[in-house]
Amino acid sequence: EQDVAEYRNSLAIRVSGFEVPRPIKTFEDCGFSPELMNAIAKQGYEKPTPIQCQALPVVLSGRDVIGMAKTGSGKTAAFVLPMIVHIMDQPELEKEEGPIGVICAPTRELAHQIYLEAKKFSKSHGIRVSAVYGGMSKLDQFKELKAGCEIVIATPGRLIDMLKMKALNMLRATYLVLDEADRMFDLGFEPQIRSIVGQIRPDRQTLLFSATMPRKIEKLAREILTDPVRVTVGEVGR
Ligand code: ADP
Ligand code: MG
Repeated sequence: EQDVAEYRNSLAIRVSGFEVPRPIKTFEDCGFSPELMNAIAKQGYEKPTPIQCQALPVVLSGRDVIGMAKTGSGKTAAFVLPMIVHIMDQPELEKEEGPIGVICAPTRELAHQIYLEAKKFSKSHGIRVSAVYGGMSKLDQFKELKAGCEIVIATPGRLIDMLKMKALNMLRATYLVLDEADRMFDLGFEPQIRSIVGQIRPDRQTLLFSATMPRKIEKLAREILTDPVRVTVGEVGR
């Protein structure tokens, strides 16, 4: 326990929550499949970043997470890698339809970046990824979603549009990520986020990442996360 505290300190990691899993030191510690380990190596990721060291084992344990760390600290892989594991763990993957992993991001640029990262790690698993955001033809997106996917990465407004058009259903969605939650709030997406969350089964795993933690986000987190583990790296402002 003393060792764990010292290791966290050395990486500027702070945690709170009930029975927080211990941080990992290497990607090997995560028990990833050989395919996933290959994909990680292909990215040139030699060792996990501090947020990954603590968030990966917590997310892999199935817990809800509030993750805070500055831009460029590797938060994307902290939720994308466990999402691949989560999807591969689903029984009878082929029989059902609709995305299992749903990621909301504030802008099309961010959604596209996450899409590229998710593609890299899902390719070798036969997992289909769709990106849904403004500036693309709604009809094309509708058709793509109708063809099926396991992961959807979306800006909130366009995802609501697609749900209204019944381009996808959320019956299979059990892994929800709200990335850059503070920016989504700044852009006025709170009602859309609440609507999307309300359409996803309550026994889902929910992850919320943010660079800052204003009170409005604290409040949302309390409402939509269950028994979350909070992981902070470095200093985080309100
Ligand atoms: P954040 O979401 O925290 O702003 P990103 O997930 O976009 O950060 O990652 C920032 C950069 O770091 C990306 O180019 C990503 O490919 C890279 N990266 C992520 N994890 C690792 C790692 N373990 N080792 C090396 N580079 C990494
Ligand atoms: Mg990010």
